[in-house]
Amino acid sequence: MDYFEYRKGELVAEDVNVSKIADEIGTPFYCYSATSIEYHFKALKKALAGLNATICYAVKANSNIAIIKTLSDMGAGADVVSSGELTRALKAGVPPNKIVFSGVGKTTDELAHALKEGILQINIESEPELIALNKIANSMGQEAQVALRINPDIDAHTHNKISTGRSEDKFGIEWTHINDVISRANKLDNIKIVGLAMHIGSQLTKLEPFKEAFTRLESLAKELRLKGYEISRLDLGGGLGISYDGLPTPTPAEYGKIVKDVFKDLNCDLLFEPGRFIVGNAGILVTQVIYVKKGATRRFLILDAAMNDLMRPCLYDAKHSIISLVEPKEDDILDRVDVVGPVCETGDTFATEIDLPAAESGDLLAIRSAGAYGAVMSSTYNSRSLIPEIIVKGNNYSIIRQRITPKTLINYESLPDWST
Ligand SMILES: *Cc1c(COP(=O)(O)O)cnc(C)c1O
Repeated sequence: MDYFEYRKGELVAEDVNVSKIADEIGTPFYCYSATSIEYHFKALKKALAGLNATICYAVKANSNIAIIKTLSDMGAGADVVSSGELTRALKAGVPPNKIVFSGVGKTTDELAHALKEGILQINIESEPELIALNKIANSMGQEAQVALRINPDIDAHTHNKISTGRSEDKFGIEWTHINDVISRANKLDNIKIVGLAMHIGSQLTKLEPFKEAFTRLESLAKELRLKGYEISRLDLGGGLGISYDGLPTPTPAEYGKIVKDVFKDLNCDLLFEPGRFIVGNAGILVTQVIYVKKGATRRFLILDAAMNDLMRPCLYDAKHSIISLVEPKEDDILDRVDVVGPVCETGDTFATEIDLPAAESGDLLAIRSAGAYGAVMSSTYNSRSLIPEIIVKGNNYSIIRQRITPKTLINYESLPDWST
């Protein structure tokens, strides 16, 4: 569900004509719809109604402060994975007592930052991290609120590179070791264990792995309570998938039902860390065709957007639907094309052998479902700019990140002293 659609033959974002924005700021750029973000947040909130639930938006999916603020204004907390993200969440107005700090390798500086800000909880992923945190908390005269992230050894059946809950993945504490770890954690003076956490992967399009993992977490929590540990909070992570191709994906209501079925007797506070589900379909990448090139065997649409702007196709073999800003007509001639960027890598390919209305140089296209893991992963490879991000609400739009050009970046470089 999103608010990008054709109206009078042209693509609009809510009530704004996308090609008008392109004329004003130039391509490529990311365009987000605030109402789409709000829609997804509300849908999830509704699905979790009746539970003692806090939705901590996973900032890494899209960390623009305007996006975080849109969600924090609706009552969302934040799940952060670095000091930088913590800074962003606070800047966007997320209250510290709704911030969770996740991640497998938090540095001592990052742990100290989290303690200083008094955030809700730090999710600990290993014993060495626990010991480091205890030491820092001690030196700061604080008690750290901690959830232990378990690795439930459940295959999320998603892309290998975004599966995080199998025993061979680097994340979490092996669930079979949790008894030992918690008993040692309990003896640390500056650590307070408040609960358990997990996150088995991203872009899950089946509910079964959630159900298996939640069930495992629930029985662990019960077992630990019987041993006298106070498990008052469970963090169920994120991972709910979205549709990139128009095929149906699990609804928030179906997801919510599983949560309720599994945890109904536990009487626990629940945290959720959705990222992609909230923002994924709320963004498009708007780009222009530079050339149409006939190769020996393929026809290429060469765009002004590239893999450095949107890594997902190259990184995860992700398929994003690509549409024209002008509504296709029934009798349009279709060309079978490869859609590629200008970067000097064969991996700089957005789609292979897809059928699009015959395009020519200067035509505008939108790469859909680019709101999550798009702008946040962009780089300046090939000395390209970081592209603008804009957000639409109703008939207004606003630039929420300006284009950052190579000229600006070169200013941070210098020649060594010995250079003449
Ligand atoms: C990435 C991540 C999330 C968000 O995942 P989505 O698939 O975007 O919902 C949540 N929690 C943790 C710990 C993560 O690493």
